[in-house]
Amino acid sequence: MIALHPYSAFTASQQVHLRIMETTDIHVHVYPYDYYCDRPSDTVGLARTATLINGIRAEATNAMLVDNGDFLQGNPLGDYMAYEKGMKHGDVHPVIAAMNALDVEVSTLGNHEFNYGLSFLEKSLAGANFPVVSANVIKTPGATPRQDRTLIPPYVILDREITDGGGGRHPIRIGFIGAVAPQITQWDHQHLHGRLTTRDIVSTIEAYVPEMKERGADLIIALSHSGIGRPDHVEGAENAAIPVGRIAGVDAVMTGHQHLVFPSASFANMKEVDVRAGTIGGTPAVMGGCWGSHMGLIDLLLQRDGDRWKVVATESEARPIYLRGQDHKVTPTVASEAQVLDSARADHEAALTYIRRPVGRTTAPLHSYFALVANDPSVRIVSIAQLWYMRRMLQDGPHADLPLLSAAAPFKVGGRGGPGYYTDVPAGDLAIRNVADLYLYPNAIRAVKVTGATVKNWLERAAGIFNQIVPGQPEQMLLNPDFPNYNFDVIDGVTYRIDLSQPSKYDIDGVLANPDSNRIKGLSYRSKPIDPAQPFVIVTNSFRAAGGGNFPGTGVDAIVFEGPDSNRDVLLRYIIEKGTINPSAADTWRFSPMPGTSVLFDTGLKARAYVQDLPILDIAPVGEGAEGFARYKIML
Ligand code: MN
Ligand code: MG
Repeated sequence: MIALHPYSAFTASQQVHLRIMETTDIHVHVYPYDYYCDRPSDTVGLARTATLINGIRAEATNAMLVDNGDFLQGNPLGDYMAYEKGMKHGDVHPVIAAMNALDVEVSTLGNHEFNYGLSFLEKSLAGANFPVVSANVIKTPGATPRQDRTLIPPYVILDREITDGGGGRHPIRIGFIGAVAPQITQWDHQHLHGRLTTRDIVSTIEAYVPEMKERGADLIIALSHSGIGRPDHVEGAENAAIPVGRIAGVDAVMTGHQHLVFPSASFANMKEVDVRAGTIGGTPAVMGGCWGSHMGLIDLLLQRDGDRWKVVATESEARPIYLRGQDHKVTPTVASEAQVLDSARADHEAALTYIRRPVGRTTAPLHSYFALVANDPSVRIVSIAQLWYMRRMLQDGPHADLPLLSAAAPFKVGGRGGPGYYTDVPAGDLAIRNVADLYLYPNAIRAVKVTGATVKNWLERAAGIFNQIVPGQPEQMLLNPDFPNYNFDVIDGVTYRIDLSQPSKYDIDGVLANPDSNRIKGLSYRSKPIDPAQPFVIVTNSFRAAGGGNFPGTGVDAIVFEGPDSNRDVLLRYIIEKGTINPSAADTWRFSPMPGTSVLFDTGLKARAYVQDLPILDIAPVGEGAEGFARYKIML
């Protein structure tokens, strides 16, 4: 027995309960599978969301399914289709096949739809059994939005029949208008320059609403591939869902792009956002997480008002495909829908072969056994890929002429992960799952603008990982075990020494503790002492840029570039483009000499095979360390 939603249970004969379901930011996640780690995952998969969707349909109310974009790119299955198999005439892309199997009724373009270029996008869209709309992606601009020639139709009006509470059937015309973050022309400059322009989301939708009404739309639903940002309307804003919600005539807003969940506590205490009512700008809205994690659901209670339909009550929710317990254990709430799995099976299986095959080569091993004590190739390769990406992104902008630095930290360096928890990729072929080993977290790429003085303080903050070392004493423990290794940023593009005789300038939380202390010595840019007033741009990740680790000079105001790409994808792109990488550890940093002083450092058992590769460090094994680690002595 299905428990009916109150709207359905008590709907009168002049009322209709209409349910709009949303998927968003699927990013090619059809299967519940993590292709980077090559193992099943219960937190992703449109095949799982499909079970929630079909559950709503089984309730025999009036239900529609829409998708909000970012379906074509974002995991190795997407890369396999774009870089390996390609889209030949008549091919149906697996994510499109899955959306067809699920009877998606309309979709819009997300920013990532443009990542593989327009030709790939057009071939992919050709396989869709549903309309895809976007009003602000423009081939030939006109004087006003309605005079633009858009890449795909700006909107669609779907004729449906809905059943009221008394069993009466009524025709209804529902308009869906699409829009995407206008920054696509910057993010995919190399694909879109000279081919497409974009317009502001809010003013574009506003311009089309009267036309959609004239053409008989009873309801208008915005498919806005944009997040929930500032309450006011800022021309060209990336996250414009709140002012979209305020547009007169828009009855519901499908949001996404931020990979968050609405309604949820993530959006508590925001102006014009009502988490309890599920509205933004006074209009019902939803955001269904990402990768199929949630089905968004907006319930509309419609009432006949003369010859039109009026929305008299609304609710919204996001239903998860899994629950995470207090112990972080993931429990799936639904099984996969076989029909959706079947629709993409052949390409899924081919993608499994693809991720296990080399995508490039490395001439030297990439391991992290000594990443906390010496220049490290596994950290540097991330920095180099970040620089490669960001140079291209900034090339035509206001920061093109500023010196560009790159910050990266080791992620897998033992610690609480134990003596086997190290990055360890041998020289030779690199497979996609090796890339996951090199970049563990799903961070997105960012750049921040800082001064030379801040570059130094950033490094002072990172150098807090080391204990203060007493000169002339032997065998002192080097690392503070409570300092998270992912806060040990190394900055590529400058050179420096770390003086361990000094106390850390910052405490473990990044609070200034010893203002007069300076561990960072000889900080140089292009072989000259760094100018404290000189502006720099540092490439980093979304965690650090937003203030993660409380680093000096970070925070939203410092961000000058927000990339839609993950640092891991940047690294993967770099390896694919270069083919063979030569990871060498530049002479970026070293410890200041302290005669007669030695420190002890614990690392993984397999470190012994590589210890001879550290020419600038006087280091030797001294037996067993704590909890199964191997101990080394470093003469400073
Ligand atoms: Mn997305
Ligand atoms: Mg997006």
